[in-house]
Amino acid sequence: MGVRLAVRGEQMIVTKQKSKQEILKILEGKNRVFIVGCGDCATTCKTGGEEEALQMSLFLKSNGKEVTGIVVPDVTCVAAQAKTAFAKNREALKVSDAILVLSCGAGVQNIKENDRAGLDVLPGCDSLFSALVDKDGTFREVCVSCGECILALTDGICPVARCSKGLLNGPCGGQDKGRCEVDRDRDCAWILIYNRLKEKGRLNLLKKIQPAKSHNIVKRPGLEKPGVPE
Ligand code: SF4
Ligand code: SF4
Repeated sequence: MGVRLAVRGEQMIVTKQKSKQEILKILEGKNRVFIVGCGDCATTCKTGGEEEALQMSLFLKSNGKEVTGIVVPDVTCVAAQAKTAFAKNREALKVSDAILVLSCGAGVQNIKENDRAGLDVLPGCDSLFSALVDKDGTFREVCVSCGECILALTDGICPVARCSKGLLNGPCGGQDKGRCEVDRDRDCAWILIYNRLKEKGRLNLLKKIQPAKSHNIVKRPGLEKPGVPE
């Protein structure tokens, strides 16, 4: 199946597998199911790697489904890899009613866009957020791709992602001993930012008022060509 170890840079899309009950509901009326996993983020999350795809296959079989095949591309959200997976599994796909994809939403949509047979392409996972992977394997959301990065002003701590209210100009006043009022298990991002800037003698950076984020900067759906502006 060609699975490679799976952390891109250390940034990844965090997914959780849908409940088995939900998956059976999604597959209602679909008796012959082809399973696609993902050798990248979903492998790291243990939601759609080789092992999880095999487990899903056993589960579906024990619920009366026929599993026509399994493939785990290295990176399921890359068009070329979806095309290769389809080319290698043409015969199995011909006799399938549906494709169950164990990856993030981008992977599911990439499989859909490259499926020439017009099968139902169904998600087996929910995408939660993009994250850093800590040494102990914890997933941590640190960026929401806002399109106007202000990390230079906050000493590398993102208030958009890490402050529960996404505040851009300092704390809300609810912090207690450095903990966020929305979730006491988390550090208040703004206290972290303040302390770091203070240590560096750079508190003057906080005097510059940040305007509200513009919804024109990152247009949804996102469409970009890679490259550096001239
Ligand atoms: S400010 Fe935060 S959300 Fe915006 S690009 Fe920078 S790290 Fe990402
Ligand atoms: S306590 Fe801190 S992290 Fe929590 S919402 Fe207020 S400013 Fe944001």
